[in-house]
Amino acid sequence: MASPLKSLVHDDSRYQKSFELFLERSSEHQCMRDFIHNLLPDILASIGDGKSHLNVIGVGSGAGEIDLEMLSELRLKHPGVTVDNEVVEPSGQQLHNYRVLVSQKPGLDYVKFNWNKMTASEFEEHWKVKKMTKKADFIHMIQMLYYVKDPGATISFFQSLLDKNGKLLIILVSGESGWGKLWRTYRNQLCNTEISQCVTTGDIKSFLDSKGVSYQSYELPSQMDITECFTEGDEKGELLLDFLTEVLDFSKTASPELRTGVLQLLRHPDCSVESNGKVIFNNNLGVIVIDQLT
Ligand code: SAH
Repeated sequence: MASPLKSLVHDDSRYQKSFELFLERSSEHQCMRDFIHNLLPDILASIGDGKSHLNVIGVGSGAGEIDLEMLSELRLKHPGVTVDNEVVEPSGQQLHNYRVLVSQKPGLDYVKFNWNKMTASEFEEHWKVKKMTKKADFIHMIQMLYYVKDPGATISFFQSLLDKNGKLLIILVSGESGWGKLWRTYRNQLCNTEISQCVTTGDIKSFLDSKGVSYQSYELPSQMDITECFTEGDEKGELLLDFLTEVLDFSKTASPELRTGVLQLLRHPDCSVESNGKVIFNNNLGVIVIDQLT
């Protein structure tokens, strides 16, 4: 039976609203920043093979906050380099936000930004049609592989663009997170759509293992306050629930059984801890770093 639920991704404005609220209610970006400042510098140390010009590709960059932090760590690690930065992002609104951020931030003269308003697969198509031979030193895809049809094929394509000592960085929710548990339980009822799927770093690791591709991986602890989801009719709670389930207007369109089941699971100890009247969802992230195929 076809699912009557509509994917949140179909409504860009509600998606962006729920994503912003998620960022406010979670330590998502803080935990990425900790990773970028504490662990990423060592990962970036070996890229570039001594070159004075580096090529970077950001896939699904959103508003660019995280990208700019990575670029500044890259420059600290490789003083004096210039950077060609391809931004691949299908949302016009997000690209606009990114450009505004760049225009407001001083000290970015060493970066040339190329704006590609397109999906990862359109970028791949474009690259192949133009028979591009440019190679990349650093490629990142942060919280975006949920939105491609075939995450494995996307990884393989971008890995093939890596130059000598190049690195591909992937961040997704961890298989061990509350998201992983929620998706393992409700995958078929929630997110079996063409454009959004429930994939964790656990799934990506299994794929890479099956292909014999080696990688490094890290787990980043992160939390999300989902207390508002449990107040019926709470507007913010409903937005967060849409984000968690990736379903547009989940509370209004899901069957009562599905709604009850999801809410029960969300506060189950497998997904959350409860303390001081708050329900804190396990938003742990996983990081995977892949080298150039040798
Ligand atoms: N990397 C940013 C944004 C993550 S949100 C961060 O971590 O903050 C996911 C982003 O992927 C959104 O900006 C969305 O517009 C973009 N996206 C959606 N589908 C995509 C696709 N098929 N290819 C590339 N990016 C996509």
